[in-house]
Amino acid sequence: MAINESKLNSRIWLSPPHMSGYEQEFIEEAFKLNWIAPLGPNVNGFENDIEVYLNQNRHVTALSSGTAAIHLALHIIGVKAKDEVICQTKTFVASVNPVKYLGATPILVDSEKETWNICPKLLEQAIIDRINKGKKPKAIIAINLYGMPYNTMQIETISKKYNIPIIEDSAEAFGSEVYGRKCGTFGDFSILSFNGNKIITTSGGGALITSSKKLKEKAVFLATQAKEDGNEYIHKTLGYNYRMSNIIAGIGRGQMRVLDNYVSLRRRNYKYYQQNLCHIKAITFLNEPKGFTSNRWLTCILLDNENTRNNLLKLLNDHNIEARPSWKPMHLQPLYKNVPTYLNGVSEELYKKGLCLPSGSNLTKNDLKRIVNLIKSYFGEA
Ligand SMILES: *Cc1c(COP(=O)(O)O)cnc(C)c1O
Repeated sequence: MAINESKLNSRIWLSPPHMSGYEQEFIEEAFKLNWIAPLGPNVNGFENDIEVYLNQNRHVTALSSGTAAIHLALHIIGVKAKDEVICQTKTFVASVNPVKYLGATPILVDSEKETWNICPKLLEQAIIDRINKGKKPKAIIAINLYGMPYNTMQIETISKKYNIPIIEDSAEAFGSEVYGRKCGTFGDFSILSFNGNKIITTSGGGALITSSKKLKEKAVFLATQAKEDGNEYIHKTLGYNYRMSNIIAGIGRGQMRVLDNYVSLRRRNYKYYQQNLCHIKAITFLNEPKGFTSNRWLTCILLDNENTRNNLLKLLNDHNIEARPSWKPMHLQPLYKNVPTYLNGVSEELYKKGLCLPSGSNLTKNDLKRIVNLIKSYFGEA
């Protein structure tokens, strides 16, 4: 009785880690060889696994976090104090903070309804306006939010037209695709995150993806304190300690073996929610535009208004089910309330109405049923 009850009410998490069982062998190997360092065979192996997976001749640098990867991308592009960098306002704070680390100013741009990501029209308006005001933005940070790719073709066209590089933030979109091409290969620089809640995780970690071997070498150099060749420890430039450890990379190698499976499982979650809830008028889902495949990292539904969203959030949490509001746009954050913005109301609406549902690849059919039934009960369905 006690066991059943605790099982029935056991906590359902939003997006918990999901170990495959393959991780341990890579970690043991690292211990056996005493490769307990921020370099080693697992680091090289993990990078190679990702390069093969992305299949676009890209070069991957494994790092301590996705945030570090964005910081390095901005550094390599040459962003300096007082520069301006355009960033999608609808995102997690880690996308924008590295701009501030460098003393530069983020210029926040709103989303389009089709993908919830940076609006091409507003992006171009923002670029033109910043140029007219006397400063050409140094980079565009575009996000693949919740796994849904941004409008890659239009954003790339604008980037080329004004010759401003794109940093593609695919922290939430590993495994997503546009017309068969993987996310993580669309930016001049792209980044991944392996934080504990992402589709695959190394507990914490990230990667910077570049288009040439030379850029990768630069990233590795900067990520290892910018030490010049030789054993005299000569430093001419400011570097960072951002490299991934060989133990952590071992977890990553194990996780790479199941990435495609986890994409299917997260997509299964989305489909289950959609099939069982789409008849409720107050709920809408984000469909994939033609040619787009989202990894459905999180299933995020939109409610008819903020009140319903808050009620459902509370109901789920009262029943030991972790749900979350959709990301609060950066221009509503106290930290970024004074930076220039180009807004159309979309990100604020998504924030007020958006609810992220449990989306882990380790959710059971019973978990999904429990969540769906609770939501249905709110709308008066037994
Ligand atoms: C998680 C996340 C990051 C940061 O990754 P960390 O590895 O946690 O530093 C960046 N951008 C987005 C959109 C994220 O969700």
